[in-house]
Amino acid sequence: MENIIFGPVTSRRFGQSLGVDLSPNKKQCNFDCLYCELKGAKTVTKAQDTPTCKEVLNAIENALKEYKNIDVLTLTANGEPTLYPELDELVDGINRLKKDFKLLILSNGSTIDNDDIQKTLCKIDIVKLSLDCATQKCFKKLDRPAKGIEITHIIDGMKRFAKIFKNTLVVEILVVEGINDTVGEFEALQEVLVQIAPHRVDVGTIDRPPAYNVKGVSVMRLIELAKCLKGLHVSIAYKKDYAPEKRGFSKEQILEMLKLRPQSTNDIDFSFDAKSVEILKDLVKQGIVFTRNVGGTEFYTTH
Ligand code: SF4
Repeated sequence: MENIIFGPVTSRRFGQSLGVDLSPNKKQCNFDCLYCELKGAKTVTKAQDTPTCKEVLNAIENALKEYKNIDVLTLTANGEPTLYPELDELVDGINRLKKDFKLLILSNGSTIDNDDIQKTLCKIDIVKLSLDCATQKCFKKLDRPAKGIEITHIIDGMKRFAKIFKNTLVVEILVVEGINDTVGEFEALQEVLVQIAPHRVDVGTIDRPPAYNVKGVSVMRLIELAKCLKGLHVSIAYKKDYAPEKRGFSKEQILEMLKLRPQSTNDIDFSFDAKSVEILKDLVKQGIVFTRNVGGTEFYTTH
């Protein structure tokens, strides 16, 4: 399963990063966020279509032979990585392979009130959890969680986790116009964030075509809202930077990639080699792939 690994990409925050996708075949998530960069999908509470722990560890081992200057290895998924059934074994395996790089997980925070998940996450260097809203009404509207997931449980879980976690905890807020872009919601977030006391709060907005018809806000609005988050290390995130790594992709790989996640023209410029760009242009000519402008940035997409 070659597509378990993606990258390396350069992240403004985490340096040279190698991504590990724990749900490479399809979206498996217990949220269906309005802003998701993957196509909307029915929520699941278990990830069943996943590579085995052994397959993931083999893929990582091979990738580490190829990419020697990795700062961070990022556990992510087309969905929620903490739903991966062998996460604990996987984290142990990666920690055994680890040399200089740090291990990072990007989670939607939904499982953080689970003691077993907390124990696993404690073995990870950087845990980044989403918290878009502090109120159930906003949370349900924006993140559209599976039945039974309550924001109060997530917040309580984050507070308990922050007390036992010895490494770096980052909380991310993604702001969507007309939903969580109010001073009231940010004041509610401030109240819980000071109790969680993460090392950093990333505040960002939509920068890729979203699953549903929602819009991001301006950087100016992000800056205004971030002012509500007093006493916290807040980082305004707007657009990811990509390292100029050019790779070759087949027609099938391009379609699979675009089906899961639209790519901006910058992404293509940075990561596609000349032959792959030709294949992509042909797909556009044939009307299989088309371009879409989101806030002034062009994306290639299939949907
Ligand atoms: S944005 Fe993340 S948490 Fe939300 S639906 Fe998409 S994959 Fe799930």
